[in-house]
Amino acid sequence: MEKVSTDCIVLGGGVSGLSISRKLGKSFKNIFLIEKNNFIAEESSSRNSEVIHAGIYYDKNSLKSELCLKGKELLYRYLRKKNIQFSQCGKFILSTSKDESHFLEEILNNATECGLNDLSFKSEYLRKLYPFLNFDQAIFSPSSGIFDSHSYLNCLKSDFEQEGGHVLLNNQCMAINYESNSIELLIKDKSNEEEFLIYTKLLINCAGLESLDIYKQLSDEMGDGKSFKKRYVKGDYFIYRGKEKIEHLIYPIPNKESLGIHVTQDLTGTIKFGPNAYPVNNID
Ligand SMILES: Cc1cc2nc3c(=O)[nH]c(=O)nc-3n(C[C@H](O)[C@H](O)[C@H](O)COP(=O)(O)OP(=O)(O)OC[C@H]3O[C@@H](n4cnc5c(N)ncnc54)[C@H](O)[C@@H]3O)c2cc1C
Repeated sequence: MEKVSTDCIVLGGGVSGLSISRKLGKSFKNIFLIEKNNFIAEESSSRNSEVIHAGIYYDKNSLKSELCLKGKELLYRYLRKKNIQFSQCGKFILSTSKDESHFLEEILNNATECGLNDLSFKSEYLRKLYPFLNFDQAIFSPSSGIFDSHSYLNCLKSDFEQEGGHVLLNNQCMAINYESNSIELLIKDKSNEEEFLIYTKLLINCAGLESLDIYKQLSDEMGDGKSFKKRYVKGDYFIYRGKEKIEHLIYPIPNKESLGIHVTQDLTGTIKFGPNAYPVNNID
């Protein structure tokens, strides 16, 4: 069986794997991104709302809050630099009854405490703008937006390759072993069903829905794993073809499972409702 040695392996070619590879590609000479599908980002990273989040909901002082605020600025800057289409269209969050409206106060206060100071109540403005909407109060986030995520992902890949990084598509990690300071991955090349071994000292696990399985294999080997439980949640989108037009993102008050079924438009003007969220047992 063929054996290959590397300095670093990034497992998974979604947005996490691609952006980490792009960054590490500047520091490592012999670095590989391994992706099981025939193209990059065919899973969650290309099946989402393509929204640039402003950093409204995360807990104050949490890493998520810090990274969301910082990431938003970096993302807008990168999109401008690379000429990738985006629209900083802004987002409304609506309460549908008086009982719900105090949640808007909480959301606004949380965002302000996190350092996002540009949210404000815009209920009357929204009533005039979209008279067909039925709501009680609304807050507006001017820094939320949408972008062409597919071009963005391709750009990350080409940045990585220009730095000399290697992208192996259609190659799936089948098993992982940890031996004397080195991680051994058994990879199947799905184009010819041949298997080979690849070794690294540094493995970045960005395998999305499979990342927990990868983590478990490695932590069992190394004997220092925490135990996590998998819980899959699935969502669907529905395209709206009615007569009303919107040019902003419209969100409800978030619930436990998700940000709630929201209305987004993509850069072609297509209006979508979604995603709903329901538990499933397996990945389909
Ligand atoms: C319905 C929905 C809507 C969302 N909307 C937004 C939004 O509007 N804005 C936003 O910022 N975020 C949004 N998100 C979140 C965002 O989409 C995800 O956080 C992000 O795409 C996760 O990227 P990832 O690279 O971690 O995982 P993924 O995109 O799932 O990538 C993982 C990759 O690993 C590969 N892989 C898995 N196992 C192996 C293996 N054994 N060997 C080789 N490769 C493997 C997979 O093929 C896949 O390509 C949304 C998420 C969902 C579900």
